[in-house]
Amino acid sequence: MRSLLADVAARNGSIVPAQMYIAGGWVDGADGTFDVLDPSIGTVIAHVPRAGVADAQHAICAAAAAQPVWAATAPRERAEILRRGFELVTASADELAFLMSLEMGKPLTEARGEATYAAEFLRWFSEEAVRADGTYRTAPAGTNKILTWRKPVGVALLLTPWNFPAAMITRKVAPALAAGCAVVLKPAEDTPLTALALAGLLEEAGVPAGVLNVVTTDRPAALVATALADPRIRKLSFTGSTSVGSLLLKQAADRIVNCSMELGGNDPFLVLADADVDQAVAGAMLAKIRNGGQACTAANRFLVHESLAGEFATKLATAMAGLRMGPATTAETQIGPMINARAVTGIADKVDRSISAGASALLGGRTPAGAGFFYPPTVLTDVPRDSAVAIEEIFGPVAPVIAVHDDDDAIALANATEMGLAAYVYSRSLSRGLAACERLEVGMVGLNRGVLSDAAAPFGGVKQSGLGREGGYEGIDEYLETVYVATDF
Ligand code: NAD
Repeated sequence: MRSLLADVAARNGSIVPAQMYIAGGWVDGADGTFDVLDPSIGTVIAHVPRAGVADAQHAICAAAAAQPVWAATAPRERAEILRRGFELVTASADELAFLMSLEMGKPLTEARGEATYAAEFLRWFSEEAVRADGTYRTAPAGTNKILTWRKPVGVALLLTPWNFPAAMITRKVAPALAAGCAVVLKPAEDTPLTALALAGLLEEAGVPAGVLNVVTTDRPAALVATALADPRIRKLSFTGSTSVGSLLLKQAADRIVNCSMELGGNDPFLVLADADVDQAVAGAMLAKIRNGGQACTAANRFLVHESLAGEFATKLATAMAGLRMGPATTAETQIGPMINARAVTGIADKVDRSISAGASALLGGRTPAGAGFFYPPTVLTDVPRDSAVAIEEIFGPVAPVIAVHDDDDAIALANATEMGLAAYVYSRSLSRGLAACERLEVGMVGLNRGVLSDAAAPFGGVKQSGLGREGGYEGIDEYLETVYVATDF
């Protein structure tokens, strides 16, 4: 399967036919194929199997058969397989990066960074696999002992988005496998090639047949609903939009399936009155422009103290105007295309509605003509607090700047949303910055820092941004159950 990487990386003009990975074998789909596009050009690059319900059943059977054996496999052995996975993904980082650039549209340098980040989850959870320990404690009455241990929750269904085609997969697969769960992974329809390439690397690393199964489809609804109704599925881990997450929680409720949810955001970026504006602009460039703004942790709203708002907007517009936009696989490109035509239309619609409501475009704001799915870096000022870009997740390179009166105003506005994933705070004062961090209703805050992601840190949101945490010490807990035994000694 490594040849999938090589074939695509060679990009010889032919369209790559791909197969899915079920029960340790490479197979076609029951319902034909679907097309994968290069968003930089808008042309088809691959035909990928369209799995049907029968394929999902096949994958669940394989995972259920592998589950008890994998759960009983020594943690050290599971750890060593994951460690080999880390080494293989690291060794293939350039090829994986090319594949991600090609099917998702992130610039090559960022894709290289994602390959490394994705590998880190395999390394981190290879280290955690041997630490899923229990406790031995005395009951408060002193009458007996309480023993606990942890065991894998069972077969896990993993659903991932397109925006980080490798890291969103390893962030789930690595802790699941480390905990002793067999998995059925359904990657996003826009980026299945990276998922299949990762499956090939993990197969090579020694993951036994049936422990990891990858089903690809562009028609997920029936397949996922059937899987969630299957009693062999004990766990759902989903990363994607809040609307789909809510739908899946309702489906999972019928059988009380254990759920982890990483959902959407509307992340505020606070620049307090004592902030260093240049430092804040540098952080904003990362928090806004990384992945073309298509990140759940992307800064969605810039809440800047009124004494700094004009300077901040001007400097941010200057920095964003200097970005080279172009095909993702061109080495010089700093901002690539959006994922698909629908995404461009959605971003343009939010910007247009906000301009109609009174916002002004200091930079960008118009969809360019030509091939590919591009939207330019855009800075909006005089943004009404209730306009579309301020209250909806933009998922593109659009920076709305809103002037705020003081810290209380900034924090009240930051919290005035049902989302609660991430936030950013810029201040020269550690105590003032930390006070703001404590008052923000989010799962993660960048304090004078524009990037949050770290395999060793707990990633996740509050409110409608999700349930549970991925990465860090906490990430493996999502795949473990605690068992308690009361003794009579
Ligand atoms: P999406 O919800 O459209 O799709 C996510 C996954 O769900 C895909 O695999 C898709 O095929 C599947 N899916 C879609 N409809 C389904 C249905 N009816 N039944 C079953 N499965 C279905 O999201 P997206 O557009 O791929 O990703 C963007 C969203 O993901 C944004 O809102 C972003 O904030 C969020 N996201 C969150 C995090 C996080 O960690 N919190 C990380 C990345 C992305």
